[in-house]
Amino acid sequence: MLDKKNFYINGEWVKPHSSEEIKVIDPATEENCAVITLGNKADIDNAVNAAKDAYESWAFSSKEERIGLLEKLYENYKKRWADIAEAITLEMGAPKDFATKLQAGTGASHIKSFIRYLKNFEFEKPLGEHAPNQRLIYEPKGVCALITPWNWPMNQVCLKVMPAIAAGCTMVLKPSELAPLSSMILAEIIDEVKFPKGVFNLVNGDGTTTGDALTSHPDINMISFTGSTRAGALISQNAAKDFKRVSLELGGKGANIIFNDADPEAIERGALRCFRNSGQSCNAPTRMLVEKSMYDEAIGRLKKYTENFEVGDPKKEGEHIGPVISETQYNKIQTLIQKGIDEGAKLVAGGTGKPDGLDKGYFVKPTVFADVNNEMDVARTEIFGPVLSVIPFETEEEAIKIANDTSYGLTNYIQTQDSEKVQRVARKLRSGMVDVNGAGIAVDAPFGGFKHSGIGREAGEHGLEEFLEVKAVGGWS
Ligand code: NAD
Repeated sequence: MLDKKNFYINGEWVKPHSSEEIKVIDPATEENCAVITLGNKADIDNAVNAAKDAYESWAFSSKEERIGLLEKLYENYKKRWADIAEAITLEMGAPKDFATKLQAGTGASHIKSFIRYLKNFEFEKPLGEHAPNQRLIYEPKGVCALITPWNWPMNQVCLKVMPAIAAGCTMVLKPSELAPLSSMILAEIIDEVKFPKGVFNLVNGDGTTTGDALTSHPDINMISFTGSTRAGALISQNAAKDFKRVSLELGGKGANIIFNDADPEAIERGALRCFRNSGQSCNAPTRMLVEKSMYDEAIGRLKKYTENFEVGDPKKEGEHIGPVISETQYNKIQTLIQKGIDEGAKLVAGGTGKPDGLDKGYFVKPTVFADVNNEMDVARTEIFGPVLSVIPFETEEEAIKIANDTSYGLTNYIQTQDSEKVQRVARKLRSGMVDVNGAGIAVDAPFGGFKHSGIGREAGEHGLEEFLEVKAVGGWS
């Protein structure tokens, strides 16, 4: 079992004030794989003080200095890529290949992308040609609390840490207590790169004690959070008291609209996007809306595809999916699958219980429900497991109405060969992202949602601007 009890504060690994421990569980074996400390208020005070002191000079560091450090960080990240992927497999069960290419890979892509945007970003510029002595100055927002979940650990951490560094902010990262190990490797990399002391700090712990102490701390100026809508609302209440800036990436219940002129393979592609990462992605297309005239064909294809979809040991190479993160999530998913059956949705593949031969570990059967209506729980709740709900529709208007009839608005998907239809529908979908015919959303495109899916955008230039305040100076000469 790994001993990961220390925190990274003010440029060194320190012994925590708290002696309360949290066990990290390998979800594939249900065994303890590491132990971390549950940070208390004194630990948070220590980390926030370090970040606050460091801010005084880091806020005025040159763009060149920050680029140089981020470039070194990128080189060192590449050297530790395999260790990061291995830690992700251990802490949250992403299979080896997926953890290497996508989980650790997106972290690397974000570092590279933020370096590029930092190089091109103008921190000072005139308001416009019409007003040359009206100056805009982009300044760091200050000391940031960065709180991340377990489902895409390095992706989410890099989406926050890198733009915060690039903007000149200082920070305290509290990664998910369920998947803290990859973040601790990132802290080691940051330590090797020798950032000024206190720019980056890491404190482990849970939401109720550590997260709450961090987000209510009066010296925090900005909170960037990814996770559940429940925690997002609590954090916003803490922020409101002293007008902390807040950026929230929350849940989703994406619709994948399959028109009858779609490439038929869009069906399998849609199921894969839903099941990938064991269904634990906020942008997963978990509601498949299928035009009536191809509905029966779609259900037949989904049955065959899902029954052959492999679930297995994440330490093994291959394209299979691994377990879900925890016993709590496993139980929540089982309850929702049973709810779907009880509500009268038609079980096409999968169902409750563990896949054959996988009795140990939080493995879930990839599951497809047909004949779902949008009022059912399986269509409304973010299940966060490999569960797909298929809903029939007859007209374009009906499809748009069903897609938008959700409290979320993160990513929707369109499948059709008709480009006019693509443009009409994309304009009407109430979501931060629309993915057409499997094209994907670029790594540096703004990532974020409408409605209960959150506030603000991450990635690329928009993600960098989230960490900046704009100041207008009139009479600049
Ligand atoms: P969570 O929101 O409880 O935890 C995410 C992070 O927030 C963790 O670091 C946690 O310690 C912290 N946190 C929790 N409560 C907090 C609080 N009151 N103050 C400050 N920090 C707090 O998410 P979870 O329990 O890990 O997952 C539950 C559900 O959240 C999932 O089923 C899923 O629907 C959703 N979720 C969404 C995303 C996403 O990317 N949008 C990611 C993870 C989970």
